[in-house]
Amino acid sequence: MRQSQLFTKTQKNAPKDEMSVNAQFLIRGGFINKELAGVYSFLPLGFRVMKKIEQVIREEMDAIGGQEIFMPSLQPKDNWEKTGRWSAMDDLYKLKDAGNREFALGPTHEEIVVPLVKKHIQSHKDIPFAVYQIQNKFRMELRAKSGLLRGREFLMKDLYSFHANEKDLDAYYEKAKTAYWKIFERAGLKEKTYFTFASGGTFSRYSHEFQTLSEAGEDTIYICEKCKNAVNKEIKHETPKCPVCGENKFKEEKAIEVGNIFKLMDKFAKPFDLKVTDSDGREKNLIMGCYGIGLSRLAGTIVEVHHDEKGIVWPESVAPFKVHLIEVKSQKSKVKSEAEKLYEGLLNNGIEVLYDDRDESSAGEKFADADLIGIPWRVVVSEKSVAAGGAEIKKRSENKKEIIAINKLVDYLSKK
Ligand SMILES: [Zn+2]
Repeated sequence: MRQSQLFTKTQKNAPKDEMSVNAQFLIRGGFINKELAGVYSFLPLGFRVMKKIEQVIREEMDAIGGQEIFMPSLQPKDNWEKTGRWSAMDDLYKLKDAGNREFALGPTHEEIVVPLVKKHIQSHKDIPFAVYQIQNKFRMELRAKSGLLRGREFLMKDLYSFHANEKDLDAYYEKAKTAYWKIFERAGLKEKTYFTFASGGTFSRYSHEFQTLSEAGEDTIYICEKCKNAVNKEIKHETPKCPVCGENKFKEEKAIEVGNIFKLMDKFAKPFDLKVTDSDGREKNLIMGCYGIGLSRLAGTIVEVHHDEKGIVWPESVAPFKVHLIEVKSQKSKVKSEAEKLYEGLLNNGIEVLYDDRDESSAGEKFADADLIGIPWRVVVSEKSVAAGGAEIKKRSENKKEIIAINKLVDYLSKK
């Protein structure tokens, strides 16, 4: 992509009411645009990041047998009344059409997925299975001040698994846990993420959260000094001891909840009468697990964890491009022709590249933009680099610079 054609531009300042680091850098870098508090448009750079995150999550969900579907945001009130959540859920967006019909804007999809599954399965032979979707969710947040960390409308992956018995659910729950760790590892968050026990499990004693340490976090967690599992605030009040190892020494930290998993058991199967005939001919309720990850929140968390004073430092797995190629304006036509040649070479070899070919920008402006946008590899073609025998290459995360011959660069970057 030529930066001269990118319709979004970087900005010197973020809106004054955006206090969070993630919103400031993402808005200034031209990744997102704020429409209203907690509601953002994703611009070309931001949308590329979201697609990368989506792909990581999709691959890991497919690997544990998840089947991808897509369910509606607009959901019938009746379903929500059946589960009692029409009146019980404070942050549910409710709307009414001209014909006085009422709807919920889905904050989660049990009210759709359970009746859907009921239509399609009959016997124990149809289970276990799991479905998931990646789709926008809505939550009536009265306070939405943390950029992508807390949205009123946000992209989320929600997976639902269906089982005949608790043992089978438990086994799948462990698989999902492993898949979640893989996702956080690939997104560059594993080191700072803790498996956290939370109260609020409906039938089992706990539900679980994945919490990433960050000063921007709105949650407080307590990390067990012995086994490194964590508990959240509510659990800490309930039990002074670590639920895993029994230790009672904890370290208090601020964290962002980047994922959560629940054993729902038959909480939603019951109101919708979701049953299957067992091998002994008796009907019984299905039991369920649900597993969520907010993609936009994950993007915001990555920025909170991976940045410096100049801008974002994207992990390569989710970066909008792998290479930021910068042509430093010069009177010598060789600089432009070498930069163009390199750009073509990278494209032809399938290396994702943003090419800063803008004529009106100074070298200083281009370098500042590159630091702000945070693409992992910066490659500069200038009079100086050409005279030194090639292009200057530098990682966004490091200070070391190196000159590599232009005709060797594509090969060099292909292997990185
Ligand atoms: Zn412990």
